Amino acid sequence: MRAVQVLEYGGSDRLTVTDIPRPDPGAGEVRVRLAFAGVNFIDVYMRNGMYAKNRAYGTTVPLTLGMEGAGVVDAVGDGVEGLTAGDRVAYCLSPGSYAEFAIVPAWKLVPVPDDVALEKAAALMLQGCTGHYLTHSLFPLEAGQACLIHAGAGGVGQVLIQLAKARGARVLTTVGSPEKADIAKSLGADEAILYKDVDFKQVVDDLTGGEGVHVVYESVGKDTFERSLFCLRHRGTCVLFGFSSGAVTSVNPQSLAEAGSVFMTRPNLADYMTTADEISGRAGDLFRGVSAGNLQINISDIIDLDNAATAHDALEGRATSGKLLLRMEFT
Ligand code: NDP
Repeated sequence: MRAVQVLEYGGSDRLTVTDIPRPDPGAGEVRVRLAFAGVNFIDVYMRNGMYAKNRAYGTTVPLTLGMEGAGVVDAVGDGVEGLTAGDRVAYCLSPGSYAEFAIVPAWKLVPVPDDVALEKAAALMLQGCTGHYLTHSLFPLEAGQACLIHAGAGGVGQVLIQLAKARGARVLTTVGSPEKADIAKSLGADEAILYKDVDFKQVVDDLTGGEGVHVVYESVGKDTFERSLFCLRHRGTCVLFGFSSGAVTSVNPQSLAEAGSVFMTRPNLADYMTTADEISGRAGDLFRGVSAGNLQINISDIIDLDNAATAHDALEGRATSGKLLLRMEFT
């Protein structure tokens, strides 16, 4: 089968398109014939070695990249119940989706409703479940609270805006261009701050009368983190969940006091997707939102599997707005 592998950590030029044997499912596992794989920043971190020592996602090379996909059940291993060949399924947080087939633990698979296209399902699992745990579990937003969402036109950002608005929050967001501001606003953001042009901390101050926001959903990292802390109101929460501009490597505890006795956490999606019920609960909410027309999943581009490096360059080059997918030959 075709697969995209990392043989050595490094840049997108290290992605190797190759033929490898089709794997067989073991006990409790399912072989999925993939139609689409999601492209996520975690794939970049796995490609360049940043996650080599991560407790939840630790990697060793060689590895087949990709943590998200959608397709149909191809074969089931011993002990798998409730799934049969041909069932439409989607998943995230199981490695190896940049390939024509992937082995996935059965408990991580969710059925895709008939009225949701496989590309939408592939597009919403990882970024959608991230938006869900951030707004519903980690910091369950309440009506009337204010939040700041960085990179609001990004994949996670777009879902976050919509889920935060659905919970009744006031949504301030940062974006890298006027076009991205239009996207963020069209999804319900109350404000879209062009953070390359203005000091976003000053704008947040102005927009909140100096009070600050209840929570910052901070995915940009190095370039914004310190200022994000000072966008918070007293005892607010900074959720540092991504490093799109580079890693935050140290935090001075005194900064948390100076910013107003604020809290900070650095979560992993995997720790909020620990059981089949937790996964199906989040995915079910998202699928229902899509079916009802309340949740828009925008697909930025769909690229052939063999051109995965192009997809990585686009993601790292800030050239995407919404979800990037890889397409397999699927009949
Ligand atoms: P995005 O679609 O949000 O793409 C990243 C965006 O970040 C860019 O489009 C860009 O938006 C912004 N950005 C700002 N500075 C830079 C920079 N120097 N280089 C590249 N991009 C920059 O990606 P995702 O939605 O897939 O993921 C967003 C973040 O969330 C990632 O860091 C990812 O690792 C993290 N994440 C974390 C999870 C967790 O549970 N901890 C789970 C899922 C994702 P703009 O042009 O508007 O500035």
